Amino acid sequence: ACFPTFECPAMTSQINRQYQLAQRPSGLPGRDTFSFVETPLGEPAEGQILVKNEYLSLDPAMRGWMNDARSYIPPVGIGEVMRALGVGKVLVSKHPGFQAGDYVNGALVVQDYFVGEPKGFYKVDPSRAPLPRYLSALGMTGMTAYFALLDVGQPKNGETVVISGAAGAVGSVAGQIARLKGCRVVGIAGGAEKCRFLVEELGFDGAIDYKNEDLAAGLKRECPKGIDVFFDNVGGEILDTVLTRIAFKARIVLCGAISQYNNKEAVRGPANYLSLLVNRARMEGMVVMDYAQRFPEGLKEMATWLAEGKLQSREDIVEGLETFPETLLKLFSGENFGKLVLKV
Ligand code: NAP
Repeated sequence: ACFPTFECPAMTSQINRQYQLAQRPSGLPGRDTFSFVETPLGEPAEGQILVKNEYLSLDPAMRGWMNDARSYIPPVGIGEVMRALGVGKVLVSKHPGFQAGDYVNGALVVQDYFVGEPKGFYKVDPSRAPLPRYLSALGMTGMTAYFALLDVGQPKNGETVVISGAAGAVGSVAGQIARLKGCRVVGIAGGAEKCRFLVEELGFDGAIDYKNEDLAAGLKRECPKGIDVFFDNVGGEILDTVLTRIAFKARIVLCGAISQYNNKEAVRGPANYLSLLVNRARMEGMVVMDYAQRFPEGLKEMATWLAEGKLQSREDIVEGLETFPETLLKLFSGENFGKLVLKV
């Protein structure tokens, strides 16, 4: 009960539950991918902080971090606590940049408490937005949508923008921004309820339920003038089909390829890539971390749109650190509806 101060002797017996990476999965990760361990909670040393983790961001990218492969970030090591961004409350600070009581956003990893150097951490204000929103529209997810669409996709007024994974965290924000820029926006999502949400609640011009209708026919119906910008979160067959309907000088933003992350075989590449040649189009990858310096600019505009009611952010919050392995799988089955957040 005397937590959170170190004057309290009970503190030293505090337990920190952690999900450590136990083995590298082949295909979908499962409970045996991780060990759920209880470790004693240490005290922060000079330059470190102790944070009570409140919400963790569950991201498709986590699957990639489990692979022993070269990527834009090193993989999580076996025995290391699984990497995750999160928001939490500083309980003790021995770092000049933070004080007890501050709320922070950073790589808190999959555990109850974070003790360490707050490298890359920044403060968030819980009085301005609910904490989970700092992991969705006002966090890495929102910044991905914002910079991938505007900087890489460069949509122009009147153009047609198609988004895959459109009802997801990144896709739903990217689509709304494209609408704000005066584009015709068509979402591709799984299931009638997600498609209804896109059109009726987020104002998309059209939606295609790739699980229950023919995608090529849907694209023909919704994009009669072709596709100027394709914001791809999914890859695989969806990317290949969209390539058959791109317009002259189209831009394809490679944000993600979730359909390929759990492949046991080689990633499926686009067979229809000659469409890029014929249409003088380009396809470009994007990693949000490259835009870290510009986050303040993006966050300011996103916060304004949210405050003005021009942008909606939907979070899908699941409770309980212990549910992490099963909750993560919702991303790959499509069971999440909005930004998937784990309440610790
Ligand atoms: P999300 O879209 O909220 O959740 C994942 C969604 O993907 C699921 O709800 C599901 O929606 C769809 N999906 C899963 N498996 C699929 C499959 N086999 N085929 C088609 N759709 C499938 O997740 P998010 O966090 O916003 O991430 C979206 C994408 O952005 C991911 O590819 C992620 O890696 C990428 N991303 C990239 C960056 C970057 O810097 N490049 C940063 C953040 C995220 P349905 O119900 O519609 O199937």
